[in-house]
Amino acid sequence: MPEWPDLHVLRGRLATAFAGKRVTAVRVHDPLVLRATRPLPEALRGRALADVVHRGRFLVLVFDDNTRLVINPMLSGLFDIVPTDTKIRATTAFALTFDAIGLGGPLKDARDLRYRDETRMGKVYLVEPGASTAELPGFDRQGPEAGALPWNADEFARRARTTRRELRNLLMSGDFVAGIGNAYADEILWAAKLHPKRRVATLDEGELDRLHGAVGATLARAVEVVENELPAELGTKIRTHLKIRGKVGEPCARCGTKIVRTRHGLDEMFVCPKCQPPPKGQLR
Ligand SMILES: [Zn+2]
Repeated sequence: MPEWPDLHVLRGRLATAFAGKRVTAVRVHDPLVLRATRPLPEALRGRALADVVHRGRFLVLVFDDNTRLVINPMLSGLFDIVPTDTKIRATTAFALTFDAIGLGGPLKDARDLRYRDETRMGKVYLVEPGASTAELPGFDRQGPEAGALPWNADEFARRARTTRRELRNLLMSGDFVAGIGNAYADEILWAAKLHPKRRVATLDEGELDRLHGAVGATLARAVEVVENELPAELGTKIRTHLKIRGKVGEPCARCGTKIVRTRHGLDEMFVCPKCQPPPKGQLR
């Protein structure tokens, strides 16, 4: 799923491409992902994009009348920036055509912002001007942005200690910090040399310090890589820089021990059995 670094970079790309431009056409190909009280074309045609906001696991397109499209890409939602005459893919849910670069430019320069979703699990909410986001599942109750934490190490530790959660659940809950999914939870815990099933209460000060540092450092590095590697047309997730996620059987980049895959509830997780020793009573 797109996580904090992906959405942070996407926000910038979408704003650069489309902010200030006007929607000239709206095509809905798969309404399943839409949560809207009226047709999308009626709400958006003729509107200019005022801003793009990243909030945790969501991207928000804000239009000039304060209509908002709040997008939670879930597992597999992807964005494309393509020339308007590009063939629509089977998984494309909707396409917004923006006017050509430089208002009044030639029509052939018009580009689409498209959203596609292979698993169709993503959600796209139309929020009318003046309406609240309180009804959107998981939106208002998110913690601070994982990649821009306002806490120093002490404050991070203090807040973490108010929960009894396992570390992986804590990172992914969204209400502690916002925007971390399976991939970066694994990466952050590997960087911090902590097992995902450790509970916060079992961590000493040094370990909590490492966790705090690993959140910031892992996400900052990821933003750099994604910014460099994400193509102009978007349409993909950059995962080349991951050190542990998906690397079962490969040597740990730090100690050479073979990386293992294990279960965490319904999810898979990846750990180095040497760098990330399991809590007592747990095999791996
Ligand atoms: Zn290791």
